[in-house]
Amino acid sequence: MAERAFFCKAVGAATAMALGAGTVVLAAGWLTLLPPAGRYLGLRADAATVQPGPGERPAANAARIEQSGDRAKLVFELSAPLNATAFVLADPDRVIVDLPQTDFALDPETGKAAYPLPRKTGLIASFRFGQLAPGKSRIVIDLGAPALVLRAACDKLDGDGHPRLVIELAKTDRRGFEAAVQRARIQLAALAQPKKTQKPEPESAKPVIMIDPGHGGIDRGAMVKGLIEKELVFDFAKAVAAKLDADGRFKVVMTRDDDSFVPLSERVRMARDGNAALFVSIHADTLSTAADVSGATVYTVSDHASDAEAARVAEKENQSDAAAGLDKTEDASDVSGILFDLTRRETRAYSHFFAHTLVNYWRFAGRLNKNPRRSAGFRVLKAPDVPSVLLELGYLSNEKDGLALASAQWRDKASSQVAQAIEAFFAARESGATVMKSDRDQVPVGKIPTAGP
Ligand SMILES: [Zn+2]
Repeated sequence: MAERAFFCKAVGAATAMALGAGTVVLAAGWLTLLPPAGRYLGLRADAATVQPGPGERPAANAARIEQSGDRAKLVFELSAPLNATAFVLADPDRVIVDLPQTDFALDPETGKAAYPLPRKTGLIASFRFGQLAPGKSRIVIDLGAPALVLRAACDKLDGDGHPRLVIELAKTDRRGFEAAVQRARIQLAALAQPKKTQKPEPESAKPVIMIDPGHGGIDRGAMVKGLIEKELVFDFAKAVAAKLDADGRFKVVMTRDDDSFVPLSERVRMARDGNAALFVSIHADTLSTAADVSGATVYTVSDHASDAEAARVAEKENQSDAAAGLDKTEDASDVSGILFDLTRRETRAYSHFFAHTLVNYWRFAGRLNKNPRRSAGFRVLKAPDVPSVLLELGYLSNEKDGLALASAQWRDKASSQVAQAIEAFFAARESGATVMKSDRDQVPVGKIPTAGP
């Protein structure tokens, strides 16, 4: 224990930083490391010098918030000490706390906006936690007002000796916050690893189908009464992939094979580099106000949303990166040119063609939304050269949809229909079915395969 305590104090002391007002508050053990003027410590990727061995990962067993007035404290009880680094990001305003991989033995709903009490007036509006990448975990705090990190450090409790992670925030004004964000961005850019240039996959003899289970890791997606979107859609995606694999005509690739976080742009890149012939993103929706809205919806990408509901869904699904504490990234798909436009137009026509096919097949498995074909600016569907659709399986907020989504029997039936729709789409393409070259939405496309088994 003595060794542990030392670790906590001397090594495990978090590289805490206040990103505002130029001050840096360092925990014990780091006091000699005061940075030269104009620089600050933090975001030390190599800070975790002593990593717990396998099976000894720190676990967070409880979390609580203490806040009053201009101060707030978020405390996690830990099984072992750890290093933390914290910084702030804007748009939306968040505090990001990065940790070595940590097991969060907490109710996934801990930290949701209204849990346990509405915190509209506090600095901490909500928070979430989970895996970001192998070996890395993260806590993201959504701010109710601009705040700076005073401290993000591992403390040792006096009584039972268990360490705890303490994140202390203080209110600031908009200017102070923006300045802190700017400094964090500079530091993040300096630390960013040069992107590995991945070799594009060699052309496969079989069409590559990319199945994209939404969310993952720290980004749980929708959560309603114990139903967690990232888990439901992963199970569904796996079922579709297994059925397509059994068919043998396709090479099936999943954008994630486990509960890890994958940024939206990375999913698009995987589809493009993997020469995907079709990209199917799987999600589930929820509505807090209308429990009677139900059924599946198939979305395609468009510059203008087909309706307000589609715009809402796209905005929510596009929040995935922000939920995981990623900074806003430029949309790389905004390239232009005549060739690009032609490619994109053809891609969108094929996307519509598949969306119609999928809706037709889905009827045999489950309920459809009253308007099951919609479009909006989904970031994950923006590969200009890969036909892409996003399937919202249903609404977790609807009782019947929720029961269906949680049922293995329903999953088996519905995933079969998705696999059959994919088979029909490729059969039609191979037979030379023509697709009208138009990227306008709701335009009828040619030769939709007859639905049904
Ligand atoms: Zn989703």
